Amino acid sequence: MAYQLNKKVRDLTPYDAINGDYAIRLDANESFFNPNELFTQEIAQEMAKVVFNRYPDASCKKLRESFAALYGLSPEAVVAGNGSDELITIIMGALLEAGDKLLTFAPDFSMYQFYGRTYEKQVVTVEKEAGLYLKAELAIAAIEKEQPQAVLFSNPCSPTSLVMLRREVVQILDYVAAHLENCLMIIDEAYMEFSDQSILDLAAQYDNVIVLKTCSKALGSAAIRLGFAVSSDKIIGALNAVRSPYNINMVTQAVGALLLSKKEYIKEATAKIIVAREELYENLKGLAGKNGIGQVVKPDTNFVYMQTERARELYDRLLERSIIVRQLGNALRITAGTAAENEAVTKALYEILEVSR
Ligand SMILES: *Cc1c(COP(=O)(O)O)cnc(C)c1O
Repeated sequence: MAYQLNKKVRDLTPYDAINGDYAIRLDANESFFNPNELFTQEIAQEMAKVVFNRYPDASCKKLRESFAALYGLSPEAVVAGNGSDELITIIMGALLEAGDKLLTFAPDFSMYQFYGRTYEKQVVTVEKEAGLYLKAELAIAAIEKEQPQAVLFSNPCSPTSLVMLRREVVQILDYVAAHLENCLMIIDEAYMEFSDQSILDLAAQYDNVIVLKTCSKALGSAAIRLGFAVSSDKIIGALNAVRSPYNINMVTQAVGALLLSKKEYIKEATAKIIVAREELYENLKGLAGKNGIGQVVKPDTNFVYMQTERARELYDRLLERSIIVRQLGNALRITAGTAAENEAVTKALYEILEVSR
């Protein structure tokens, strides 16, 4: 008898994580700072203290305290995850039931739909308007129509690079609180360091809101796989009950707590990344409307989103020059890098497109 994979996984292919050796990597929205170069000694000391034969602290006490102190929260309102990706899988798998309706928007982070489907949610995706900005009105109309059990979106959004205003997010949360019986609101603020419309301070005040954070972007620590969920007591309690007890390894706990205590570094790195994204945007906006390029969006993140029907071709031509960006259908998402990297990708694109600067 041949073993049959179930329908939902039969045709899946692994996430296209690009691990080739490219000279310039602007595909994954990572930071261009490596804290392990700045705090080499301290990180080594933290790692040296790890007791390898013992399980890690299941409560991640120090880590949560460090995260909470950085963002002015109570450690009780925080759960750590092996990347915010793990937290999304836990929310999908355990806080929601099979067949529950998950409302997402497009364009948005592709993994939302993937995890929703894998965990047997009924995923409904509403297209954003042509300007790509997700308006509260549109979100509320979709929520009213669909009556979902959960709503999940990124803010600022990957890939559109746009932030929804805090007051609009609050408008949506208040609508849901007043009109829906049981609807979990999940706001992914992976890129909020690059903007200023966070609702992190409100997350624990509602009983149905989860805000997700990550160390993979502004904090420059994608390698250690560390994300956080901030929410009400009720939801934090449930997340603690359903996650695997040792989900955060001790090396990540030790190094993560140290990195999260580096307030000045985080502030300075973020400010420099914002300068870099402004520079990249200023460089690329001259391509808008020329030779197959559509909108070049003014970003609130650490990357630039460019609509173009030549996305695949441009992606391939950049690869030939050992520059990797992200292609998403008819668009490119280009991470802001160092000044030299931004200049290299800019020069390459103007040359390939035969546009003069
Ligand atoms: C990069 C990113 C994350 C971070 O995921 P991790 O698993 O924490 O690395 C989360 N959400 C969005 C929208 C992202 O782009």
